[in-house]
Amino acid sequence: MIENMFSGSDLSEFRIWMTWADRYVILTHMGPDGDAVGSSLALCRYLRGKGKQAVVLVPDSAPGFLKWLPGADDIRVYADDPDSSDDLVYKADVLCCLDFNVVGRIGRIAASFLYSKAKKFLLDHHPYPGANYDVILSHPEASSTSELVFHLICALGDFSEIDKETAQCIYTGIMTDTGALSYNSNNSNLFKVISHLLEKGIDKDEIYRRVYNNYSESRLRLQGFVLNEKMQVFPELSTALITLNDQELRRFSYRKGDTEGFVNMPLQINGVLMSAFFREDAEQGLIKLSFRSTGNVPCNRFSSDFFNGGGHENAAGGEFRGTLQEAVERFRKGLDEWSRSQEDCIRQLFKK
Ligand code: 5GP
Ligand code: MN
Repeated sequence: MIENMFSGSDLSEFRIWMTWADRYVILTHMGPDGDAVGSSLALCRYLRGKGKQAVVLVPDSAPGFLKWLPGADDIRVYADDPDSSDDLVYKADVLCCLDFNVVGRIGRIAASFLYSKAKKFLLDHHPYPGANYDVILSHPEASSTSELVFHLICALGDFSEIDKETAQCIYTGIMTDTGALSYNSNNSNLFKVISHLLEKGIDKDEIYRRVYNNYSESRLRLQGFVLNEKMQVFPELSTALITLNDQELRRFSYRKGDTEGFVNMPLQINGVLMSAFFREDAEQGLIKLSFRSTGNVPCNRFSSDFFNGGGHENAAGGEFRGTLQEAVERFRKGLDEWSRSQEDCIRQLFKK
């Protein structure tokens, strides 16, 4: 039997809102990924099926490899029209916050979010949820927020209303947040969820191809360049670092989403337990940081200790205001500081 992640009382308030609330705005984090977009579109489709006015609003646009998702054409991008987006947030009855924990993650939407009198509902799997919500369903043990949307719909008694398109969105989120079920997915219940999604008619192999075999030639060449020339491995620190500056990105006709997955690659090297990827974002004037780790190495703590970032134990991120060189220096200093830690989970990086 599939176990629902929510108890009856978890959803009692949301259920009451559903009896009177008509206007739902679904918000997700900056740099929306497969789980952010998949979970948001799945919830949006479900709510529309229940006769609600629902819209997905993202701070900035989703990468091209997610544009095929059912409903993706309807996503509102805050940066495209800030005034009408703010209006949408003010006029909402319910703001559903998916796949992020603290409001800083929704960028410029945060101001209208905080002012809005709407009910605020958080459904997320990042640790340390913030406090600006009326109802918080935070499950860091979940593979993805998309898995939580599946449980939410079922807990509301509407499994039968999950159609093939909703199932496609949910599966995409599960797949992208688990590296195609290669991490964060040792859970038999998750495979029961996937089994139900297959019964709804999804073609999981096709979804894999649409997401992962959808690169431009220049993106694949950028990957070759990165592995050959840009990956630095520090065996004595069990760590690797990749950096890409704006000029290098332009040389390979960089498009949003092209560097997705790069940060995972150094973990394929025997002995590398933590990997970092720093990308210069000249448009926003910052360095985007990504961290990945294996086992119980807490890369989210590295990100928060030295870069004011956050995320999951094995997948975290952050932003750095300064030059790429300064970010690298901070990284080296951070590792130096960590090398003096007495904690086992950190010490294992320095065993060589
Ligand atoms: P990614 O490396 O794929 O951008 O992000 C990995 C994880 O870190 C995601 O779960 C994401 O929510 C979190 N994350 C990414 N960027 C940031 C950031 O700037 N701040 C915080 N707190 N978390 C982030
Ligand atoms: Mn997620």
